Amino acid sequence: MLLEQERMQVVEYGRRMSSSGLSKGTSGNISVFHRGMELMAITASGVDYFEASAEDIVVMKLNGEIVEGSKKPSSEYDLHANIYRSKEDANSVVHTHSMYATTFACLREPIVATHYLIAAANTSIIKVVPYAMYGSTKLVEEVNKVETNGNALLLANHGLITWSNSLANAFNIAENVEWVAEVLWRTKCVGQPTVLSNHEIEETIQSFKGYGQDADASTSGY
Ligand code: 13P
Ligand code: ZN
Repeated sequence: MLLEQERMQVVEYGRRMSSSGLSKGTSGNISVFHRGMELMAITASGVDYFEASAEDIVVMKLNGEIVEGSKKPSSEYDLHANIYRSKEDANSVVHTHSMYATTFACLREPIVATHYLIAAANTSIIKVVPYAMYGSTKLVEEVNKVETNGNALLLANHGLITWSNSLANAFNIAENVEWVAEVLWRTKCVGQPTVLSNHEIEETIQSFKGYGQDADASTSGY
């Protein structure tokens, strides 16, 4: 089976995404890109994460050509492919409709640095991409127009997208962004959140490079 390890990883993280509450039903999608082979392994469209097996994960080229798999790929395959084309250190993409990130996406309000853990996404602000229908070429175009040095964007009236060098890291970013979004929401419910400065976030981003047991950190939960 082509990209067997990657497909198994996508299955495992799909289940995690569901059981951690980051996605309801069949919402969201996950992919891993093998740069050497120029192939991505992506979740199939509308398939229950707990019923999916490695064979159900679709292997495809970035131009949309299916190389292995009998299922229809995620409707967002071109959104994932576009990230692999435009960000050379991205090897995995996670897209969720997690509650609090999606709340800000629906407000069309960026997630700001009210908690230092936003630095997990390598940025002090998670910007909002203007609305376009899910799975559309327009959505890909809109994502392309938003500049970010970070690893996450909100999709207006839709959800969250994160990317990183590995699936573990992209997933970790999605979890942390969701948590920061919840903290931001809660602080706004009772008062005026304090926003950390760009400098404060920048020094945290640098510090995370040596966080935990790993010299190259960032697979941990901070
Ligand atoms: P798929 O099941 O086609 O991946 O769609 C889910 C989704 O979140 C669309 O944005
Ligand atoms: Zn979606």
